[in-house]
Amino acid sequence: MPMFNIVIFGKPGSGKGTQADFLKNKYDLYHISTGDLFRKNISNKTKLGLEAMFYLDKGDLVPDSVTIKMLENEVLSNKDVNGYIFDGFPRTLNQAESLDSFLVSINLKINATIALDVNENELISRLLDRGKINNRSDDQDIEKIKNRFNEYNTKTSILIDFYQKQDKFFSVDGKGTVNDITSRLFDLVDSLI
Ligand code: ADP
Repeated sequence: MPMFNIVIFGKPGSGKGTQADFLKNKYDLYHISTGDLFRKNISNKTKLGLEAMFYLDKGDLVPDSVTIKMLENEVLSNKDVNGYIFDGFPRTLNQAESLDSFLVSINLKINATIALDVNENELISRLLDRGKINNRSDDQDIEKIKNRFNEYNTKTSILIDFYQKQDKFFSVDGKGTVNDITSRLFDLVDSLI
């Protein structure tokens, strides 16, 4: 299989992380979750973590300057792979443009952006449920959740148009059981590789 790079896209709680894990295993990809990277830095109390903590707790996006550099470092430190699955990145137009030019500079490109489509009411209940079992302050407070949707709606959703213009945007119904959604994703990816 040729190198295949996927962006998994969707609102907070849409299942990106869960599904990225299945895609990673099936297609032997390297999974990069910017949210997980931030949380790892926060728990390790790194300089980057201390900088990002404040934004994550409020449900604001971390500034592009920090996020883009972290993403590029993660790619450059994991180069011997069959492809990447970008989870939670890009989330702004600036991030998307930076990702394109960064990938070109290392002879790569995004092959497909796949959105998980779920309505906000369903997402709120998923996130509050998740908040009961994880330690994420941003999953335990409805105002923080609404702020994350607002960040998505004002800064991230324009990427649909960005990737549609490149003929790389695909949307999958994100409602149903985890297995249902995984098989929708596998069918789609199989049709693209
Ligand atoms: P979710 O998609 O459920 O919100 P994530 O783990 O992807 O969860 O993101 C959690 C938080 O991490 C975001 O609310 C934001 O503060 C920060 N974050 C993650 N990815 C990015 C990004 N690409 N740009 C800016 N901030 C980000």
